[in-house]
Amino acid sequence: MYMERVRIFDTTLRDGEQSPGVSLNAMEKLQIARQLQKLGVDVIEAGFPITSPGDKEAVSLIAREVKGVVVAALARASALDIETAWEAIKEAESPRIHTFIATSDIHLKYKLKMDRETVIERAVAAVKLAKKFTADVEFSAEDASRSDLDFLCRVVEAAVKAGATTINIPDTVGYAEPEEFGEFIRKILEKVPVMDRAVLSVHCHDDLGLAVANSLAAIKNGARQVECTINGIGERAGNCSLEEIVMALYTRKDVLPFYTGIKTEEIYRTSKLVSNLTGMPVQPNKAIVGKNAFSHESGIHQDGVLKERTTYEIMNPRLVGIPESRLVLGKHSGRHALKERLLELGYELTEEQLNEAFVKFKALADKKKEVTDQDLEAMMEEEIRKVPETYSLEYFHISTGSTIIPTATVGLLKEGEKLEEAATGDGPVDAIYKAINKITGLAPVLEQYSINAVTSGEDALGEVVVKLKNGFGKIVTGRGVSTDILEASAKAYLNGINKLLFDYQMKGEKQ
Ligand SMILES: [Zn+2]
Repeated sequence: MYMERVRIFDTTLRDGEQSPGVSLNAMEKLQIARQLQKLGVDVIEAGFPITSPGDKEAVSLIAREVKGVVVAALARASALDIETAWEAIKEAESPRIHTFIATSDIHLKYKLKMDRETVIERAVAAVKLAKKFTADVEFSAEDASRSDLDFLCRVVEAAVKAGATTINIPDTVGYAEPEEFGEFIRKILEKVPVMDRAVLSVHCHDDLGLAVANSLAAIKNGARQVECTINGIGERAGNCSLEEIVMALYTRKDVLPFYTGIKTEEIYRTSKLVSNLTGMPVQPNKAIVGKNAFSHESGIHQDGVLKERTTYEIMNPRLVGIPESRLVLGKHSGRHALKERLLELGYELTEEQLNEAFVKFKALADKKKEVTDQDLEAMMEEEIRKVPETYSLEYFHISTGSTIIPTATVGLLKEGEKLEEAATGDGPVDAIYKAINKITGLAPVLEQYSINAVTSGEDALGEVVVKLKNGFGKIVTGRGVSTDILEASAKAYLNGINKLLFDYQMKGEKQ
């Protein structure tokens, strides 16, 4: 059967990073970009450089470091935005400037306060300017789905004639309905003959839960690039989910004769990484990557799957890289066994990294009888989230109970020096945090605190996630994993504090 390629444009680092409460530093963005490249996306939209010096810095880091993929930067249709975007991506192997302007009457009237002719002029000028820097220019008509079709077609035609090689039609507010949106895409292609020189792209939001359905309808009607994010994160209700659109195309080739360059086995790992670094958990019933996506609860279903998997499973979980939960390693397992298992889970370690991992593994195996794949993943994820440890946890003591005031004594190491303080609090965790504040001299606001059991059983690993906000309004996510939840709490808080300190160093700000 003849199959056509659909390009996957990932905007996890731009639209996804605009999710409320999410803030990634440059190193975290780089880690995600590297994984996206491994996943096989065609384009990584790395950020929106004009919005902050930090974002610009992160985009240039990705442009320099990540090869074998197009790196795009977003810019409004203005000279300064486009020049700043180019500054950030000029070292990329394949740089793309993505410029946009709104085309709906509602945006023209209330937001831009511009008439239609001016919008066309601005779009053309923006594309022409971007074209001076790079041949690969994408133009987006913001709020396209609520725009007048004839006017939108005029803008699209002008943008293509000015040199745009990709035209993106966003459903910015998630208002479209699949059949209507598919029709809309078909009409644009019919009415703008020069579209044979450009790729038509869509960017759908999920306000009505229709982002994936709308994107599929667009593909059926001629779109050949889809903009999407890992776990569907993004502004408000989020974007079209990468894993869902890719697996829909893969699983239903019979009715959707299209393919993508995605290595599906990397999906699960990417989802975990993004969820960990953004601090946005994946809902258990999320399609493809949710904890329950391949669990069978009813006896009838379990019985069926045991007899023949395809009775109740339309995809093999291995296909999306979900590790099988086998109990594998224990206290007597050696370095070689650990290395092999980590390799199967997708972690290729250097000798030095393996040594470090082995020490951690031994400590864990001493506390737990059996070390599962999930334990190993939790351990490795803690490892990759590392920032320089200005402060590390040496020890802590707690005295608490129903009739006494909780008191914590905490010992931290800073460049080999041992620092100790004691403090009281409303509870044991509060007491630990106050003692840490005394030592570090910082007092960030604890915006969020949550505990999750990573694995099951009495000796399960617990993961604590905290969100800390400093005086400048900067929010960081800190994580800690341990079989003891107070220790996990202390580690998470310190991880957050170390991140805040690391950011100050990167930006050269004074504390
Ligand atoms: Zn968007």
